[in-house]
Amino acid sequence: MKVTRIAYSARLNSGKCAALWEQARRLGPVRSEVWQRYGSISGVGSGLRDRQVRDRWLVDGTHVRFGVLANAWKETVRDAMADIATNLASAKVQVRRAVFRRTGDPGERKRMLAALAADRWAGDPFLARQMRKHWKRGRNRTHDQIVVRADQHNTATDGRGRLWLAVPGLQRRQMVRIPLSTTVAPTGTLRLILRGGRVEVHYQIDASQMRSSQRPCGDATVGVDKGYTEALTDSDGVRHGSRLGELLTSESDRLKERNRRRAKLRSIANTAALRGDHAKARRITVNNLGTVKRDRQAARHRARVRTEIFTAAHRVVDKAATVVAEDLTKSFAGRKTLGRNVNRRLAAWTKGATAEALTSVSERRGSALVHVNAAYTSQACHRCGRLGRRHGDRLHCTSCGVVWQADVNAAINILQRAGDPDIALHTPHHAVRQILQDRTDRHRTRLPVQDSNSATIERRANHPNRSAMSNSRKQVDR
Ligand SMILES: [Zn+2]
Repeated sequence: MKVTRIAYSARLNSGKCAALWEQARRLGPVRSEVWQRYGSISGVGSGLRDRQVRDRWLVDGTHVRFGVLANAWKETVRDAMADIATNLASAKVQVRRAVFRRTGDPGERKRMLAALAADRWAGDPFLARQMRKHWKRGRNRTHDQIVVRADQHNTATDGRGRLWLAVPGLQRRQMVRIPLSTTVAPTGTLRLILRGGRVEVHYQIDASQMRSSQRPCGDATVGVDKGYTEALTDSDGVRHGSRLGELLTSESDRLKERNRRRAKLRSIANTAALRGDHAKARRITVNNLGTVKRDRQAARHRARVRTEIFTAAHRVVDKAATVVAEDLTKSFAGRKTLGRNVNRRLAAWTKGATAEALTSVSERRGSALVHVNAAYTSQACHRCGRLGRRHGDRLHCTSCGVVWQADVNAAINILQRAGDPDIALHTPHHAVRQILQDRTDRHRTRLPVQDSNSATIERRANHPNRSAMSNSRKQVDR
């Protein structure tokens, strides 16, 4: 498993900066060309490889007009095709869901999923229609990146201990030497992203090299609920990453205040421009409405939130051999509708980061991550299954007459979904509701219901910080 690392340039001079910018600018059209020609069902969707594209371009002379070295455009072609393949894979996730909605027949499902996986969906009318629906034709938006193959760059340390990274420029045998702000040399394929007057060097390292990967996982099975006040609440009632809420609130307040100030400055600049005072308008735009500081602050905030979330995931895996969590792939589809609302944007990003942390930490430390259908897990009472009333962080079950802590209740429900015989990952929302309804009806008519260890679990939800006591108490009770 790979983990991305970023190194930054330190005081890059303007000549080198301009040279790298020019190279990235010329590579933008390479990506656009790949997206336009092969970003559809007849291109990458038909199993076309980047080597074939390179051969075609060499034959028809497409590559000549970009004005960059061969390695630079070839790596860019490979990278753009990988982007398209990712795009295709996320469309397939949607189509898989549609398959589950369409049929309950295991044989039919298996046939369709196999066809989808092997890119043979064009022959099946249902799959073809779904693919056309979910695979929106994309276009290239990347004009600030240079991909450098592993054997095309090198690093050297100067007499003062500074690390320099040398990458190919626009001319053969003319390397651009970039001073880095780190002493750890980037390795493997590099992605240079030019942002705000400096270079970000993105590269991947093997996760097994990281110290945190050496720690073994625990041996329990733990359900987790993802939140915004705390990153994770587990089914033992313990909260992890409790500084998350504070970080998100302060960032949201800061962004709102900053956006308000920027709007005011922008209107002053516009007024000045209307008056004919273009010098003033330009001064404000350049000095007060820049993006360099803004983008760096945003990156710093993201780094802090990620640290909090990853630490929380590590705490859970410390005790878990199996982590049961909500499947979050669904929520990414709605990303476009979030608009300018600061809170919603932060929340969506946080949710994605939490999902990533659970996947990454589980994989590195050898615990299993089980995704379950989370429909109604935050509303149903984990003891009787009826839908309760939510008041802030409390869930009131009128049937049991008990108030649960909502996130702990949800984590227990999520844990129980892992062994649920009726509710599978892709069971539709309304079907889940019906199943829960049927179970509580059965309960009412006094038929036996699977409810083996609810006594322990119930106590955990009531006393989230005393989970260690629950075992001894159980023995006393019985
Ligand atoms: Zn209840």
